Amino acid sequence: MDALTGLPCRKEAFAQLEVAVNVVRAAGKRMVVALVDIDRFYRVNEALGTDFGNEVLCIMSKRLAEARMVSTRVSRVGGNRFLIAMPVEPEENGGLQAVEAIKNAVERPIDVKGTELYLTSSIGATLFPQDGRTSEQLITRAESALYQSKLQGGNRARFYNLEDTIQLNRRIDIEAALRPALYLRQFRLSYQPIYRMSDGKLRGFEALIRWEHPQLGDISPSEFIPLAEQNGLIIPIGEWVLREACKMLAGMSKYGLCSLIMSINISPIQLLDPTFSQTVLNALKDHHLQPDSFELEITENHLLYTSDTAISTLSWLRATGVRIALDDFGIGYSSLANLKQLPIQCLKIDKSFVKKIDLQSAERIIVEGVIKLVHKLGLEVIAEGVEYAEQYELLSEWGCNYVQGFLLGKPQEPDVLDLSMIRRSEE
Ligand code: C2E
Ligand code: MG
Ligand code: MG
Repeated sequence: MDALTGLPCRKEAFAQLEVAVNVVRAAGKRMVVALVDIDRFYRVNEALGTDFGNEVLCIMSKRLAEARMVSTRVSRVGGNRFLIAMPVEPEENGGLQAVEAIKNAVERPIDVKGTELYLTSSIGATLFPQDGRTSEQLITRAESALYQSKLQGGNRARFYNLEDTIQLNRRIDIEAALRPALYLRQFRLSYQPIYRMSDGKLRGFEALIRWEHPQLGDISPSEFIPLAEQNGLIIPIGEWVLREACKMLAGMSKYGLCSLIMSINISPIQLLDPTFSQTVLNALKDHHLQPDSFELEITENHLLYTSDTAISTLSWLRATGVRIALDDFGIGYSSLANLKQLPIQCLKIDKSFVKKIDLQSAERIIVEGVIKLVHKLGLEVIAEGVEYAEQYELLSEWGCNYVQGFLLGKPQEPDVLDLSMIRRSEE
């Protein structure tokens, strides 16, 4: 028994669920098993103290127990996590109403000693018998659904689906494979050309990481970079990218390609590392490269604005001559108002915008407007994801400075990239 709420605790809860499954099975009924997690509960403890937090948990557990019917079982299976098992009638809409009743119960304002609190919850739910026939299956699948609802930002209920579990397992496999990947030399860099629009000449390349795993196959950076950011591996991986791209750029000068710019993608996490700027400068020095031949592509993120370190690292690097570009403009946290705060010279318009400029779309108006506005701020613009000649023509008409995309060249590995050919075309 949980001393605080008087509810069964984890071990008892699982044993009771086993019994409940057997009862429901014998009666030929259906049952909803739901894991309810109070969103950001740590904030309640942090702001109002643990005594207050405990009181809130007691109120919640009472509400959850009363939310439905007498045969509902509620247990506390973690700090702020509850397990609920409720038999439902077969005609009920997939247990949906039952789960909604739970969510509403959590979200009613709570009054503790005159302080009114509004909480939300994330719920992962499974249905017996279709989602699982044993208590263990029902709980692990409810956990998987809960994980998905948290991943989508919380404050939502989700029913289990097989696709999520496949995704979750892939994520676990990728995380495990990521640790030794650097040591096993599984990463490579591809280089995508960026062209100047005024004379059609090559401006330089963007280095893009590639990971080919012997069992998992090709894994996209969009899939593994966020995981590397979460477990800190982005620091050594990012340093490898930096050194590899410097080596490549130094190699290009052998072909007489001297004034090219190499762009690399930087995670906001790297900017929080106090040794980052020195690492950049050392890598440039080791390869006898000028700082202005190097461009760091950053993406807007709350870390950029909430940490002084990130902005001062960027400003310091900019002062040494390193170029800074803002990547993926238009999605996520991007805002024109914030542009003034960042020490950038260049802005990259996200490909999701460029994709639609050859149609009569809002994107067409936005991209034309952004180019004009960004020029007024004294910045240059790169359009990424240019796939069609019509898009190229429009960007040229609007005065966009540089273009990058499959129309002009796909990312290529160094052995495919024929630098002597590029040299000839530049002459
Ligand atoms: P990004 O920096 O915006 O890179 C552009 C992405 O668009 C690349 O995908 C590139 O292959 C793709 N792309 C280029 N031209 C076209 C086009 O014409 N059409 C379409 N549909 N796509 C095009 P990729 O290589 O899968 O990289 C995805 C993202 O992963 C990158 O977006 C970047 O944010 C991140 N990333 C890649 N390499 C690194 C790295 O070394 N470090 C960090 N921190 N992030 C990286
Ligand atoms: Mg980029
Ligand atoms: Mg981009």
